Amino acid sequence: MMRFQNRVVIVTGAGSGIGEAAVRLFLSEGAKVAAVDWNEESLANVERMLLPEYRDQLMAIVADAANLSAVEQMVNGVVGRWHQVNVLFNNAGIEETDSITETTEAMWDRQITINLKSVFACSKFVIPHMQRARGGAIVNTASIEGIVAEPRGAAYVASKGGVVMLTKEMALDYAADNIRVNCVCPGWIDTPMARRSIAKHGGLERMMPEIQRLQPLGRLGTPEEVAKAVLFLASDDASFITGTALMVDGGYTAQ
Ligand code: NAD
Repeated sequence: MMRFQNRVVIVTGAGSGIGEAAVRLFLSEGAKVAAVDWNEESLANVERMLLPEYRDQLMAIVADAANLSAVEQMVNGVVGRWHQVNVLFNNAGIEETDSITETTEAMWDRQITINLKSVFACSKFVIPHMQRARGGAIVNTASIEGIVAEPRGAAYVASKGGVVMLTKEMALDYAADNIRVNCVCPGWIDTPMARRSIAKHGGLERMMPEIQRLQPLGRLGTPEEVAKAVLFLASDDASFITGTALMVDGGYTAQ
């Protein structure tokens, strides 16, 4: 399939995990991809792996997806080179979380800023270009934790619940511009983020029975499995889908 030929896609959090998998799949379907991450080293690694095959299709941009002036500059850079933006994948995120009484103000601010304000910041500067082109698709990475809460997840849960609702709100505001806005809600996915959290809880072997109980398909999801759902929502295959939260969770939220 080459669903994204002649389309320009911005992916945030592109240096690792789900974002990196999405960059690969978008490239393989013909998109021009701006890969955005604030971690210069991991972004350079992704660039090194993909540039030989996709020289004219890939640009890597180091930027903080939640910083408005950095985002404005990033979007101007993309439009300066490729003249349009057809798809925005707001995926940058962190998980560093606890109960309210154990959450410091700095932890709270980091979670809400990176996970939620980044969606505001990137969408704010991309949408005018989509309006000019009379259409576009935005996909946000929320989480199962935007739908169901988890103990000791205060700021993360709040940020992802915010992403789910902001997705619906943006879908309403820009439907008349033919801009569709959806989100994916991944369950436990095998990425460096999940690996860090699993390590904190005693390692994969110890966590596996719990993961199998919570996630009926009985395993971690892969970043590619989430990325495939993202590409579906970003593509014309989803032309009548807007404002939805698509669970990619191995059945986690079914029970
Ligand atoms: P990851 O840590 O492997 O990758 C996240 C990437 O985002 C990193 O490269 C990081 O440098 C980048 N990033 C963080 N803050 C940034 C910022 N301010 N500006 C630019 N880049 C930034 O994590 P992942 O598991 O691939 O997570 C991707 C998204 O999926 C996140 O929003 C996360 O909350 C969400 N998610 C992950 C899981 C899971 O189990 N892995 C489950 C549900 C939701």
